[in-house]
Amino acid sequence: MVAYRPNDKTANAEKYAPCPSCYGYYEVKQLWKHYKKRCPLATEAPKSQTVVSQASYLLPVPAHVSANTHKIMSVMLKDSVYREAVNDEVIEVCRQADIEALC
Ligand SMILES: [Zn+2]
Repeated sequence: MVAYRPNDKTANAEKYAPCPSCYGYYEVKQLWKHYKKRCPLATEAPKSQTVVSQASYLLPVPAHVSANTHKIMSVMLKDSVYREAVNDEVIEVCRQADIEALC
């Protein structure tokens, strides 16, 4: 659901994420404010980082990223380091080995 259509045609899709309650797409910087004050389906008052983390977990990831890795990486800042880590298949192999060693 598109909750808001920006006037700026150069809007970057990476700056938007779905609300974990109503699934409306909001700018990540505004998501917590939406969730706390305006979301009609919000049931609790989590911390801002929790809302952003939950929203990130709803976004698709490359096929080579496992569910466990995706859950761990959903709390990372969505910067250039994150983009490199998600798209590097060698890092994914190492993460899987570490996760399996912990389980
Ligand atoms: Zn919402």
